Amino acid sequence: MPRPIEALIHQSALAHNLARARAAAPDARVWAVVKANAYGHGIENVFDGLRGADGFALIDLDEAQRVRNLGWRGPILLLEGCFETRDLELCSRLHLWHAVHCEQQIDWLAMHKTHEPHRVFLKLNSGMNRLGFTPAAFRAAWTRLNALPQVDEISLMTHFSDADATRFGQDGIAHQLAAFEAACSDLPGERSVCNSAATLRHAARANGDWVRAGIMSYGGVPDYPERQPEAWDLQPGMTLRSKIIGIQNLQPGDTVGYGSAFTADKPMRIGIVACGYADGYPRHCPTGTPVLVNGQRTRTIGRVSMDMLAVDLTELPESGWGSEVTLWGRGPKGQVLPIDEVARAAGTIGYELMCAVTRRVPVTVE
Ligand code: PLP
Repeated sequence: MPRPIEALIHQSALAHNLARARAAAPDARVWAVVKANAYGHGIENVFDGLRGADGFALIDLDEAQRVRNLGWRGPILLLEGCFETRDLELCSRLHLWHAVHCEQQIDWLAMHKTHEPHRVFLKLNSGMNRLGFTPAAFRAAWTRLNALPQVDEISLMTHFSDADATRFGQDGIAHQLAAFEAACSDLPGERSVCNSAATLRHAARANGDWVRAGIMSYGGVPDYPERQPEAWDLQPGMTLRSKIIGIQNLQPGDTVGYGSAFTADKPMRIGIVACGYADGYPRHCPTGTPVLVNGQRTRTIGRVSMDMLAVDLTELPESGWGSEVTLWGRGPKGQVLPIDEVARAAGTIGYELMCAVTRRVPVTVE
């Protein structure tokens, strides 16, 4: 018998979430963002669910190769462009579109003896101060690219830092959108500005020609806890589930797990679940982190260890050895435990939990 933990990838949920991006930005095309191995879900595991997208956006060339290997002939965008000059060769061979965010990338293009011209997304740093040309340098970069025979189409992009929130009393994109519009208003080319939060919250103002749907494709709520999954009608793309492999009955004063971090103050029954931080479940989850046992909500108890964690079964007399435990995602009767809720208990975001599921967790695609 294998260890009972598994990650289920729900293709129909991925397709549903993609449809939500389309509905939110009906005039735009949709990049399904599949960087970081599809936010930890596995590119090959999400491909069928997301193949209705207009393109795939990612970061690593080997992931672009994997998408091509799956038979995808449509657009693929490298969100950070090339990391060294020889990447351009593979860009040509795989027909990739790529971001250009710095002078070095233009230098490489200028030197590149290309088989066919490149399509690039020139990136503006509109205020996030991560990647991109400043507004002052943007036009010169565009002019330089436009003069290169190696480049046949220049699109324009930026990335919002606060699309999920308000900032300085305004919605979080206002200042960056204004900077983007000022820098680009008289330049030709397609535009791409929205991530998930901007797509859901601001697409009417900002959708542009392409939206970049990352976390929402996987059912993560970009502006949790302000919004819940139902508010955006998103479904979990992944369920992490396991089983109870041990039962302990506690007396008042008994402690649980490493560091004796939990002490029972009454008689209790706890279940030991085959899931730990070596599976990607966050060690930082404190006692009280929500979990479903046979679809019913209860809580974790004590510290998460490498291969196990403990859950409170005191109020769940029908649960016992072998009961199904949903760490996040969809329970056995369709109940949902949002990954964002678990992430919040751990002091992080759903993105990190998805990406952290480790290789030892078997994956079932359904
Ligand atoms: N576009 C860019 C440039 C990104 O870096 C990311 C992710 O960080 C996304 C789009 C997708 O963002 P989200 O997952 O919030 O939709």
